[in-house]
Amino acid sequence: MSKKKVVVIGSGFAGLSAATHLADQGYDVNLLEKNNTPGGRARKFEAEGFVFDMGPSWYWMPDVFEDYFAHFGKKPSDYYNLIRLDPSYTVIYGENDFIDIPADLGEFRALLETIEPGVGPKFDEFLKQSAYKYEVGIKDLVNRPSRSLLEFASLSLLKDIMKMDVFQSMSKHVRKYFTEDKIIRLMEFPVLFLGETAENIPALYSLMNYADIALGTWYPDGGMHKIIEGMVSLAEEKGVKFHFGAEVISMKMEDGHVVAVNTKDGRNFNSDIVIAGADYHHVDQHIIEPKYRSYNPEYWNTRVMAPGSLLFYLGVNKKLPNLNHHNLFFDEPLGPHADAIYTNPRWPEKPLFYASVPSKTDASVAPEGKENLFLLIPLAPDLDDSEEMREKYYHMIMDRLERLTGEEIRSHVVYKRSYAHRDFKQDYHAFKGNAYGLANTLYQTAILKPSLKSKKIDNLYYTGQLTVPGPGVPPSLISGRVVAKEVIKENNL
Ligand SMILES: Cc1cc2nc3c(=O)[nH]c(=O)nc-3n(C[C@H](O)[C@H](O)[C@H](O)COP(=O)(O)OP(=O)(O)OC[C@H]3O[C@@H](n4cnc5c(N)ncnc54)[C@H](O)[C@@H]3O)c2cc1C
Repeated sequence: MSKKKVVVIGSGFAGLSAATHLADQGYDVNLLEKNNTPGGRARKFEAEGFVFDMGPSWYWMPDVFEDYFAHFGKKPSDYYNLIRLDPSYTVIYGENDFIDIPADLGEFRALLETIEPGVGPKFDEFLKQSAYKYEVGIKDLVNRPSRSLLEFASLSLLKDIMKMDVFQSMSKHVRKYFTEDKIIRLMEFPVLFLGETAENIPALYSLMNYADIALGTWYPDGGMHKIIEGMVSLAEEKGVKFHFGAEVISMKMEDGHVVAVNTKDGRNFNSDIVIAGADYHHVDQHIIEPKYRSYNPEYWNTRVMAPGSLLFYLGVNKKLPNLNHHNLFFDEPLGPHADAIYTNPRWPEKPLFYASVPSKTDASVAPEGKENLFLLIPLAPDLDDSEEMREKYYHMIMDRLERLTGEEIRSHVVYKRSYAHRDFKQDYHAFKGNAYGLANTLYQTAILKPSLKSKKIDNLYYTGQLTVPGPGVPPSLISGRVVAKEVIKENNL
């Protein structure tokens, strides 16, 4: 009997994960990627001796990566060496006002006590709750395909869900335990990964605090891209066939099925099943014929997208002793910046930003004596992204960076590349130039997200950061597994 043919669109974490799970189960998998290298938003590039990770830089939830590789009898260490960062990261609140976040839990607790004396027992309670949410959230909820409310209809699960403050905001939740602004900002920071502010993220996601504080911040030696290299190598071992420079532009339909997927350069791939790991909006609105689309433009325009980003990849010809591997610049209030992202979209007046210097940990990503510096400014999606604005923000951020670190950096930049909305659209077909997909707000959780299965095409499925369970590297990995399980359930070999 011939094997069922699966076409996976996109080689991001989700597409790679789905393709590998299905190839492992005996499906004949072709993976089509428009770019010339794998990894999607987690690609890398090299220039003048520097190696830049283009997207993710925080390796959180190491257990999710372990689970992924363990499913195939492997370990992350078969592909890359993990280093636990200590300090995990540094938060800069202002001039000479910063905190190094220690990796050790006891030291972290002691640090909180110095900021808010007597807070220890409240912190213990907060962490216990987040541990419980992590257990139920990551071990159970994220694995549900969320195609029907019935999936959540067990009494014990409902009890668990009620205990997890689904209807309370993260912001309120944090304020129940802590009063000092510095601690509140620290505890609210991890949910920014989920694409909204703490006011609009359900307190269920304090599970991210457990990931941050207890599970730690890690780094794969050689760069985040080592994860992608490991996943590609495993996918190839399982028989996935990769096609790069293969931009999907249309699907051939027969009786409500996709029978072939067509690329811009004229190749056609026959398909029994198609999994779209490319941005959901792009596939739904630009690849599929109108009568087969699951959603209409109004639906998409009313989704809360996670922010876009202005990024700078910089090579610096000296060491930067006053920066750590991860540095969060919270020297301006979040409120006006959040307003500029979510409420009244505009270029922010005084943005918060993040600086990563992976060459602090990893000598292979910069030439000797030099530093690899990555700057990230979160922005509203769909902004008018011009060279002038990028330059304006480069100098604004450099002014602050130089002032807060007390050293000259700009004149030492020997390599510079910027990346923002236009690039996200061109490289990934990102809706409104988004960087991190769809925000995890209450109304965009589980069954309220764009569905993992097409509503009109019975052999088309979706995976990745715009469907369940949500944005981020670990959720994208999980998304690939969840969709593969659905495919296997509905399309037995
Ligand atoms: C700047 C930045 C920083 C981030 N930082 C972190 C972090 O520190 N930690 C973390 O956990 N997460 C982080 N994230 C989020 C994380 O990177 C993403 O959630 C995750 O990589 C998304 O994976 P994906 O597979 O859903 O999508 P993608 O990686 O976008 O993959 C989709 C793929 O589909 C391809 N494609 C699109 N259209 C077509 C087509 N027509 N034909 C063929 N192929 C197509 C694209 O080229 C792409 O390769 C960050 C993201 C960005 C952008």
